[in-house]
Amino acid sequence: MGTIQDVKKLVNELIDTKFTIKTYFSSIEMSARDLGYSFEFDNTKNTFGRCFYIAKKIKLSLPLCSENLDKIHTNIKNTILHELAHAFSVEVHGMRNGRGHGSNWKTIARQIGCSGERCFKASEVNLPKSKYALICNSCGYSTPRHRKISSTYACTDCCNKHNNGRFTREYALQLVVN
Ligand SMILES: [Zn+2]
Ligand SMILES: [Zn+2]
Repeated sequence: MGTIQDVKKLVNELIDTKFTIKTYFSSIEMSARDLGYSFEFDNTKNTFGRCFYIAKKIKLSLPLCSENLDKIHTNIKNTILHELAHAFSVEVHGMRNGRGHGSNWKTIARQIGCSGERCFKASEVNLPKSKYALICNSCGYSTPRHRKISSTYACTDCCNKHNNGRFTREYALQLVVN
């Protein structure tokens, strides 16, 4: 079990690390620090990590990191590499072709040791306890919500099973306070 300080140390080490990025034409050594990137925590609960190309920031969710201190060298490290791959991909391929999770990003992600998955799977990380949950009274499906919602959602499974995939209020999800 690590600490938040360990996470901070790991991000900064990885931002300083010079990776070799190979393209069809060249092989370039670069670190995110060389490109002007620095690190910050933020308080978002839905996204583990984000890469801001213009502000040149790698941000990690403090609540999600706090819940996953047992996974610093697996999930958290993979998330950091995922975000670094975004920074490198935009540098190498330009904003137009380097953004997103296409093959340019994926190739670089794999070169620097990231699994190249689009994002973490909810089943592989510990999610912070949410204030609310949306539940289906018919099948028992439940999903965490961090904020109140005003629109009505219906249970996808139940609508598919009992209503040919069409929305019906009969299977509306109910917002409950945890
Ligand atoms: Zn991404
Ligand atoms: Zn349901």
